[in-house]
Formats: sequence, structure tokens, C-alpha cells
Amino acid sequence: MLNHTPYTHEKGHLEVICGPMFSGKSEELMRRLRRAKIAKQRVMTFKPSIDNRHSIEYVVSHDGNKLFAQALDDVTSILTIVHQENIDVIGIDEVQFFPTDVISIICTLIDEGKRVIIAGLDLDFRGVPFGSVPTLLAIADTITKLNAICCICGKDAHCTQRLVNGDCAKYDDPIILIGAQEAYQARCRNCFSIDKRPKLY
Ligand code: ADP
Ligand code: ZN
Repeated sequence: MLNHTPYTHEKGHLEVICGPMFSGKSEELMRRLRRAKIAKQRVMTFKPSIDNRHSIEYVVSHDGNKLFAQALDDVTSILTIVHQENIDVIGIDEVQFFPTDVISIICTLIDEGKRVIIAGLDLDFRGVPFGSVPTLLAIADTITKLNAICCICGKDAHCTQRLVNGDCAKYDDPIILIGAQEAYQARCRNCFSIDKRPKLY
């Protein structure tokens, strides 16, 4: 055996599932977590809380499948819960909505030998890489990039189209639009419509 730094346990790894809305990220996350449970591993799922409270909720996919999850407003609770409950496999859904602190928490979990599986949007509605997801993609051991079906032409969809009162959203539209009717669609690159190209570099 090569004589590297001594360690007491094997490191874990990170699996990232990304793609636009409706591409099946939550379904794929749930599938992997269910299989880990069948393998008698201790599994816990987390997602960001929308109302700033720690509560017991579900990851729900767009076709109605659901899986028990802890909704958190404070990402550091992930470490506390994982240690308290001696969890082996950690699932995180909607990872793009957690603050970037989630990156160091995921790195700690990997160092501790955990299997971490995360799902999130790689791009926001403008086509800009979303929050901590690009960094997590770089750290990942495996990446699964999914497509949805374009709701305009039926081809593979790579983008998430935001609609405000039925019209394609503008690049500079505020994230929260009080009183507006908002909707999101999966669209291919051809059918995706935005008034500005993101400056990415
Ligand atoms: P994500 O987590 O990526 O938003 P989900 O796992 O929640 O995706 O939902 C995927 C499911 O959404 C599909 O299996 C399908 O039943 C449904 N669905 C609705 N609209 C679309 C679409 N435009 N393309 C693909 N699947 C869609
Ligand atoms: Zn299309």
C-alpha cells in the first residue's frame, strides 16, 4: 500500500443531480434514497425551509411522489442532525436555495465518510449558474444532468422559462414580483426566450 497520510476511515462522496425544472431531479433523488434504505442504510433528506422554520415536510416531485424530509432554515443543522442520528446517506433537494455555507457542510460530510446526494437547478430563469450549484458540480464525484421536455416543441428542454402574467420574464425582473401571476416552464434552447444574454465571464 502507498504510504499516504494516515486516515481512520474511508472518505465519502458527492453525487449531483441537476437540470431545469420538471427534469426529474426530485424523482431521481428519491429513487437513490429509497434504494439506500433498502440497503439498510440510515438515510435523511433535507430541503430549504420556505417560511424560516425547521419543520418536517416532504420532497414532492411534479408527478406527486413524496419522501419525508426535514425543512431547514439553518444549514448547520444538517451536521447536528446527521451526527445525532448517525446518518450514512444524506439527500438534499433544491440545494440552490440554501446559502453558500452549504458547500463547506457538504465537504465536511464527505470528509466524514458520508454519501451525499444533492439535487438542484444548475441555471436560474435567466440562464445564470444558480448559487452554490456550479461549485458543487466541480466538487462532485458524479454528475447527472437531466433534461425535461420542452413544453413548446417537445424536444429536450435545457432551460427553465419564467413567465410573469403569461409573458416571458425579463432578465432584470425582480425575483419577487408582488401581485404578479408567476409560472415556470421547461423549454429547449430554441424556445427559451429572454431579452438579455447573461455575462458569464
Ligand atoms: P424536478 O425536480 O426536476 O423539477 P420532478 O422530479 O419534480 O422534477 O418531476 C418530474 C416529473 O414532472 C416527470 O416525471 C413528469 O411526470 C412531470 N412533468 C411535468 N411537466 C414536464 C415536462 N415539461 N417535462 C418533463 N416532465 C414533466
Ligand atoms: Zn422547444
